[in-house]
Amino acid sequence: MEILPERSASRPPGSYRLSKSKFLSGLQCHKRLYLEIYQRELAAEPDEQTQAILDMGTEVGEEARRLFPGGVLVEADHRHPTEALRRTAELLGDPTVPAIFEGAFEFENVLVRVDILERVSLETTGPETERDAWRLIEVKSSTRVKDIHLDDLAVQSYVLAGAGVALAGAWLMRINNQYVYQGGDIDLEQLLARDDLTALVAARQGEVPARLADMKAMLAQPAPPAIEPDGHCHSPYDCLFWDHCTKDKPARWIYHLPGGERTYKQLAVRGIQTIDEIPSDFKLSIFQRRVKDNQEWVGPQLRAALGSVRYPVHHLDFETFMPAIPKFPMTRPYQTIPTQWSNHIEDEAGAVRHEEYLCLDPKDPREELAVTLLESLGREGSICVYSTYERSILKSLAERLPSLRQELESAMARLWDLLPVIQEQYYHPQFGSSFSIKSVLPALVPALDYGDLEIQEGSLAAQRYCRMVFEETDWVERERFREALLKYCQRDTLAMVELRKALLSRTAAPSR
Ligand code: SF4
Repeated sequence: MEILPERSASRPPGSYRLSKSKFLSGLQCHKRLYLEIYQRELAAEPDEQTQAILDMGTEVGEEARRLFPGGVLVEADHRHPTEALRRTAELLGDPTVPAIFEGAFEFENVLVRVDILERVSLETTGPETERDAWRLIEVKSSTRVKDIHLDDLAVQSYVLAGAGVALAGAWLMRINNQYVYQGGDIDLEQLLARDDLTALVAARQGEVPARLADMKAMLAQPAPPAIEPDGHCHSPYDCLFWDHCTKDKPARWIYHLPGGERTYKQLAVRGIQTIDEIPSDFKLSIFQRRVKDNQEWVGPQLRAALGSVRYPVHHLDFETFMPAIPKFPMTRPYQTIPTQWSNHIEDEAGAVRHEEYLCLDPKDPREELAVTLLESLGREGSICVYSTYERSILKSLAERLPSLRQELESAMARLWDLLPVIQEQYYHPQFGSSFSIKSVLPALVPALDYGDLEIQEGSLAAQRYCRMVFEETDWVERERFREALLKYCQRDTLAMVELRKALLSRTAAPSR
């Protein structure tokens, strides 16, 4: 249920039709709800990663329906609520329909679409349709019950009860990440766990009327509420109005100080707006102090730390994907599957060569990936990585491939992590509060950032990989994705080569 009314200061509370998603937006932030209704154009476009998460949810939802044979989908979409309501009422009254998918219900100007409504027979007498009650089931691609799911089910239960539907419980259907796919057809009963949340939802349902009343009163105001952006803007979901709400904040806004919400609130309550205004007696961690000092800092041990590598130095990066519905036998939902590696190899004279692997077929890539990788890594030299991620991938490969375990463990013993070297021995003002390679590289090697790449981020690489291997049929598009994936992974490892050089050049600078 979408409402897109003209902005009206005189619109009386209660005259708005809210959807479930709007209600949940309102729980996160009243200002968000207000802007979604009146000034949607101020929102940023959802990026491809967000869209990929939504698509995953849709895929899981469609799989869940297969557990209710004979269930009927209400086809009318959100632009046709009247038709959806009419069709739902028709299905409710048809005793041969065991389940309704995307049923539409409205009560007190709140309209919800229900993922699955399962008909449950009750032990009573009377006409057949009166003996029926309905189990409300919300389907999520999440692996655990979250607070937002209770609110989601609570508003649906409230509307359904108000619309006269006899409810026989409120359930969540979610991904069971302990399920191990055995090959062949997916065992949906195992893949999808069911949680009976009836009691928890009932407790929360009582809060819905007051919350709705507050939202409707707020929506009748001539301007959005004055709500300051902070951590609530990112939980449970990133708000698309973040850029709008923070557009007037100073570049060195205290929200950007590392250390989390608590430090931010302690400073905000004292009226401190920028990192530069933080008083000298305010207790800061070493990292926070570096951010406040806002100057390049070279640690006394940087040269020694950089010199601890052994040549030839390999620079390794993996790309992976994590399908909600397992693709390969003996894998679990959301298991990390490496699909690609890049290795830049630098010898002692400074010569650099590059090797890489990318699986192009819809098969389990792990054994081929491990064999080619071990060949590229040889038996000598440090393996430079950025964070502990590559270690975790090598470990999982060693567990999966007993015949390669020893060699993979030997490779793990050669890992040399550049991230803690930087964290402990170097700071540049351009890092801000982040040591991610995407923040560090432009500061130290400005000529080599990610701006020219089609893929600039790991989750987009995963999404493109899935499209290339499992969906895309146009070979031109497949080729485009292949090239973009290779370039992205290659950039990560070349970045490490250049970062080591740039850091070494800084060790001549005087340290403070
Ligand atoms: S960015 Fe934050 S303050 Fe602004 S509308 Fe979104 S949640 Fe509310």
